[in-house]
Amino acid sequence: MEIKYDSNGLVPAIIQDATTKKVLMLGYMNEEAYQKTLDTKQVTFFSRSKQRLWTKGEESGNFLNLVDIKNDCDNDSLLIQVNPVGPTCHTGTDTCWKENNNASYGFFSTLEGVIAERVANKDTNKSYVASLFSKGINKVAQKVGEEAVETVIEAMDNNDELFLYESADLLFHYLMLLQAKGFTLKDIEEELKGRQK
Ligand code: AMP
Ligand code: ZN
Ligand code: ZN
Ligand code: ZN
Repeated sequence: MEIKYDSNGLVPAIIQDATTKKVLMLGYMNEEAYQKTLDTKQVTFFSRSKQRLWTKGEESGNFLNLVDIKNDCDNDSLLIQVNPVGPTCHTGTDTCWKENNNASYGFFSTLEGVIAERVANKDTNKSYVASLFSKGINKVAQKVGEEAVETVIEAMDNNDELFLYESADLLFHYLMLLQAKGFTLKDIEEELKGRQK
C-alpha cells in the first residue's frame, strides 16, 4: 500500500471501531509503526511525546486488535478499523472525544430511543409501544414469544417475505422487552463480547 509520510516521517491514523463504526482516537505512525501493526495485528503508533514506538495498550492492556487498514484518496492518512479491547481513551471512555458514550447501532439505536420516548410519554391512545408497555412486562414478553414462534414457522417454509416480516416483528418486540427489563443493546454486546475467545 502506498503511504505518503510527512516531513517528519509520520502519517495520521484514524482509529475506528470495526463494529460500531465509532471513531475512537487519532494517532501517528511512522513506517516502522505501520509495519509492526501489520506484523503483530495490534495497533502501534509512533508517539510524538515519547518519541518512540507505542503499542496502544502496552500498559493498560487496552489493545486495538487490527481488522483492516485503508489509505485515503491521496495516500496521506490512514483509516484503521479495529476491535478494541476495553476503553480506548486513557481517561476510561470508549473514544477520545467527549461525546455520549452510548453504543451506536445506527437505526437500531434510533429505534431504542423512539421506544423510550413513547414509553415516557405514555400516550396509550396514539402509540402501540406505550399501550403495550402499559399492560405490563409479562404482556411484552408474551408478544416476544408469539413473534418468535411466528418467525420459526415462517423459517420452516419457503416464504422469505413472511420470514422477513416476522423477523422484523420479533426484533422490534425484543427491543421493547429489553427496555422493559432495563437493558439496552449495549448490554447484549458486552455479554456476547465477554463470551469470545
Ligand atoms: P496504553 O497504551 O493504553 O497502555 O497507555 C499508555 C499511555 O499512553 C497512557 O498512560 C497515556 O499517557 C497514553 N495514552 C493511552 N491511550 C491514549 C489515547 N487514546 N490518547 C492519548 N494518549 C493515550
Ligand atoms: Zn488525504
Ligand atoms: Zn483519549
Ligand atoms: Zn408477527
